[in-house]
Amino acid sequence: MTLDSGIFERPLRVAIVGSGPSGFYAADPLLKSERPAAVDMFDRLPTPFGLVRGGVAPDHEKIRNVTRVYERIADRPGFRFFGNVTIGRDLDLADLRQHYDAIILAYGAETDRAMGVPGEDLPGSYTATSFVGWYNGHPDYRDAVFDLQQEAAAIVGVGNVAMDVARILAKTVDELRTTDIATHALEALAESKVREIHLIGRRGPAQAAFTALELKEMGRLVACQPIVDPAALALGPRCEEELSDNNRARNLELLREFAAAPDRNAPRRLYFRFLESPVALEGNGRVESLRLGRNRLEGNEPFKQWAEPTGETFDLPCGLVFRSIGYRGIGIPGIPFDQKRGVVPNVAGRVTDSNGIVPGLYAAGWIKRGPSGIIGTNKPDSLETVERIWEDREALPPCPRPDPEAIPALLASRGVRYVTMADWRQIDAAEQAAGAASGKPRERFTRVADMLAVLDGPGATSDTASDK
Ligand code: NAP
Repeated sequence: MTLDSGIFERPLRVAIVGSGPSGFYAADPLLKSERPAAVDMFDRLPTPFGLVRGGVAPDHEKIRNVTRVYERIADRPGFRFFGNVTIGRDLDLADLRQHYDAIILAYGAETDRAMGVPGEDLPGSYTATSFVGWYNGHPDYRDAVFDLQQEAAAIVGVGNVAMDVARILAKTVDELRTTDIATHALEALAESKVREIHLIGRRGPAQAAFTALELKEMGRLVACQPIVDPAALALGPRCEEELSDNNRARNLELLREFAAAPDRNAPRRLYFRFLESPVALEGNGRVESLRLGRNRLEGNEPFKQWAEPTGETFDLPCGLVFRSIGYRGIGIPGIPFDQKRGVVPNVAGRVTDSNGIVPGLYAAGWIKRGPSGIIGTNKPDSLETVERIWEDREALPPCPRPDPEAIPALLASRGVRYVTMADWRQIDAAEQAAGAASGKPRERFTRVADMLAVLDGPGATSDTASDK
């Protein structure tokens, strides 16, 4: 069954909550159908693109260029953007049900997983998500402060987010100044005293979650040498079998190159540590050291080995700890949520609750499957969800208020200054113009009020703007 054989005389009306990759990859097939759906995309920020704007590292400009694809999707007839609208506050699920036949939740995973060890919340201990948001100028983290006067930093977790955090700490200001890193972050990093960066993996080098492309960059840092203990790279037979995975094999090759490289006497050092887990963060009023427990790998099956504590512990002196052990989704009032997994429960994109499938409610991206995969992983994932909408279409109860003008009118009646795609393009142009002056691709607005001032003039910010 396709959109074209449906009972609806008018276009199917679909709301997408979230404007990151999964939202755009859901919008694309809906808009490209022979009888295109009408798609309204909502975001709590005035700016679209989710983690492509707020998560991808500033020195990975090529990855960010995927926004050009999303801009083209947004140009298709039937697409509208409503930025600066928080679902669960400005509009709730009942409002969306009134105006849309189908709702796709694609709002990602915006918080982080906790380590669950004593001292985790001591000053000096931070989440990778806040650091990433801060250097990317995300309004939520505009006023975050990181104590970069410490000489040693530990990053717990060895995924690509941990690599981003390590790289930003390891790079010189000259390596960063021509990126679109937020100026407040560049200024703080210019004063950084961090000299030692420890990346801490609970399993071995063959199980590291980072990808070889990101690892390779660590060998090209101007003022930082990657340090790997050759003894840590001795693999058991099951780990050897795991090298049948190309990425793992390439990671091992690179780690061996790092281990064999002569000492360059670089001012900064990046230590790759394996088979160690945090047991506690310790210090008098702030983090002074990280207590680590040594692990060994257990499990007879390759690709299913886990870290088992040996009982041996030791202290790693460090004044900064970043936990980077995975993102976590959060719930929206009135919408089913699996607290344990941090996702919206669903079967292949159809949202479920204790009574089974919830008609007309769908999920895509990280809030559907959990925080894994690269940007492109979201394309097939979102298509799977859209295919479920196509299958369900005949059975979906048409929404009571399909008039496309009803939603902007409702938002206006609630005093919400929603931001359209045309508005975003004005903000975008202003950011790019500001960046050009200092040789950066853009100078981001880091406060919602400043974004809205581009559109309405200074001081015109509505009370509902999600500035924090
Ligand atoms: P991730 O890839 O899932 O890595 C999480 C890391 O944390 C793993 O090393 C994991 O170890 C470790 N970990 C989990 N729980 C732990 C615990 N309790 N104690 C110690 N370590 C723990 O997550 P991520 O780095 O947040 O990245 C999320 C996704 O975004 C990934 O798919 C990533 O590739 C993608 N991403 C891509 C890029 C890029 O392409 N440049 C950049 C950023 C993010 P175990 O393996 O033992 O669980």
